[in-house]
Amino acid sequence: MTTAGIPERYSRQALLDELGIEGQQAIARTRCLIIGAGGLGCPAALALAESGIGHLTIVDADRVEISNLPRQILHTPARVGMNKALSAQLALKDINPDVPVVAVTQWADDALLAELMQSCDIVLDCTDNFKTRHAVNRAARNARKILVTSSVVRFSGQLCVFDFRHTQTPCYGCLFPEDEETDVKASSTGVFTPSVGMIGMMAACEALKAAANLQTLTNRLLLVDTLRMQFQELSVTRDPDCTICA
Ligand SMILES: [Zn+2]
Repeated sequence: MTTAGIPERYSRQALLDELGIEGQQAIARTRCLIIGAGGLGCPAALALAESGIGHLTIVDADRVEISNLPRQILHTPARVGMNKALSAQLALKDINPDVPVVAVTQWADDALLAELMQSCDIVLDCTDNFKTRHAVNRAARNARKILVTSSVVRFSGQLCVFDFRHTQTPCYGCLFPEDEETDVKASSTGVFTPSVGMIGMMAACEALKAAANLQTLTNRLLLVDTLRMQFQELSVTRDPDCTICA
């Protein structure tokens, strides 16, 4: 098999039968929006950039703190205090200058999300709070995009994909009703460094497969227990009482 027409950098990936030249070219045409340049967003952005994604927009209004560095692998000690989206953009420019990266330094509110959805194909929810998670879900659903949602607390991770190009798809609100949730933050409960990296990389894995039209975790909630190293899967169905999609 040949990978002619594909930059040498991506030749190993294009050699995969499941991807091939067409899959790699589809990845190169895909625009991803990453909400959050923290523990999940950093490894996800790294894998997407290294895979030759067409375009990345990274949204984060937070600043890099020293306690972020173990998980948030695009940030460095020299960039403590810098906006996280800008720090991620700097890192990715070094790692793969061929991938255009836009840094958005505002909070991801409804208006900003609605605007950003217009210029992306796939959204990666890499936030750390339910309020933004639900806002991202609503915006992705309204704009009929593919949503990869991920989260990690302690040793436990969750991952799910919703393809809102299909009108009958369930949504994040079907899984976690808006009024029933309370945030569990790494700052209060602790979090295991590699668990976050794993789930962030898995989110990128799903986004890349979606870009290449391969089967993803669509409507399947993956629960990852990295303490026991056990994986469990639940199918997600539409909640007739969902306040967002019903
Ligand atoms: Zn729903």
